[in-house]
Amino acid sequence: MNMRETGSTVDLSAFWMPFTNNRQFKEAPRLLISAKGMYYRTDDDREILDGTAGLWCVNAGHCRTEIVEAVKAQVEQMEFAPTFQMGHPKAFEAATRIAAHTPGDLKKIFFANSGSEAVDSALKIALAYHRARGEGQRTRLIGRERGYHGVGFGGISVGGLGPNRKAYSGQLLPSVDHLPQTYNLKEQAFSKGQPTWGAHLADQLERLVTLHDASTIAAVIVEPLAGSAGVLVPPQGYLQRLREICDKHGILLIFDEVITGWGRLGAPFASQYFGVTPDLLTMAKGTNNATVPMGAVAVRNDVHDTIVNGAAAGIEFFHGYTYSGHPLAAAAAVATIDVYEKDNLFERAAKISPYFEQAIHRLHDAPNVLDIRNLGLVGGLELKPREGKPGARGYEVFLKCFEKGVLVRCTGDILAFSPPLIVNEQQIDHLFGTVAEALKETA
Ligand code: PMP
Repeated sequence: MNMRETGSTVDLSAFWMPFTNNRQFKEAPRLLISAKGMYYRTDDDREILDGTAGLWCVNAGHCRTEIVEAVKAQVEQMEFAPTFQMGHPKAFEAATRIAAHTPGDLKKIFFANSGSEAVDSALKIALAYHRARGEGQRTRLIGRERGYHGVGFGGISVGGLGPNRKAYSGQLLPSVDHLPQTYNLKEQAFSKGQPTWGAHLADQLERLVTLHDASTIAAVIVEPLAGSAGVLVPPQGYLQRLREICDKHGILLIFDEVITGWGRLGAPFASQYFGVTPDLLTMAKGTNNATVPMGAVAVRNDVHDTIVNGAAAGIEFFHGYTYSGHPLAAAAAVATIDVYEKDNLFERAAKISPYFEQAIHRLHDAPNVLDIRNLGLVGGLELKPREGKPGARGYEVFLKCFEKGVLVRCTGDILAFSPPLIVNEQQIDHLFGTVAEALKETA
């Protein structure tokens, strides 16, 4: 189907697009109409190599037959069933299958519909846990500069991205503080994998503990690898140190694995990759290959038990969504996890990561490259901003790549790459070869 050539038009005016320059987009729209495997197809019938797995989410590749069939079968059998005081088997099955991959004792799964909802749910679980153990004064939450935890009020409060917070600055959650971000161009430029510099930044948590007193702090939330801020890889030893300090002071550690979950680093979760187990772990995106909106929190068994057993008779946790454990999302999750397991996709990602690393670092001498960073199947390319026009160069390179048939993601002047885990060597070469051309042509 070629909508533009066949004269069929789409009215673009009503949809207020999220995180988009709407005026710019609507002057020159980019419309995707179908997808298979590593590729999208546009309305003008061009093939686009997906260098971003949609939005870091289609880890098993697009329109995988088994997942499509599972959703079809579910929608025909039962499109919806409540999970408040009721249940349906797929939600339980999905939770069990997810829990088979989550680290440590994080085997209780609370369902939401997005990463943002998973984050807000996790923050509430942390607060409810301390209250249930008689430490209700632990209300302070600690996030990190440049952290992204979605767009709920909880998420933007613990998040550390200025533009996402600015318009709501007087309305953010009270009692939130932030750790410093971990990126330092001078110390970490062009580091492959985890930078050696920066573990000491975790000690800033001790400073916050001294400032606020441990007895007021409920939880620390970080992305093990910060994605949306532009691929900030944790320094060696940093996450281990955070874990130690949290343990010492009875503070819960939350890993936001919305991006790093489901094989992105070559292990089920970043937690296993780094060998650091949090107390709560948020996920979304890859949980069901982004087929139907789904988010979830994996919760340490005893955190769950404390809340559930600590409550008097009746409902234990006053929180949930109409669509928590939605049958279509759950069916997609079960089928997706089948694919991950059957095709050993996490091992596959681990195996091809060194090739990905080499390929992205070949851009070292391309025009306007300030830094390159990578881990697993995630890469970030930081560009020198155009004078007086921050973000302009990143956007130009993104547009040029799209024109050339490759989808990359830009946040400001940082390009991010996170292909589906099924990517092969030729496609990696095609991806970064195209980026190299785009950098030259926009220089
Ligand atoms: N947390 C992290 C770490 C994310 O990367 C994202 C989305 N990129 C979110 C939360 C929010 O997820 P959603 O857009 O599904 O609400």
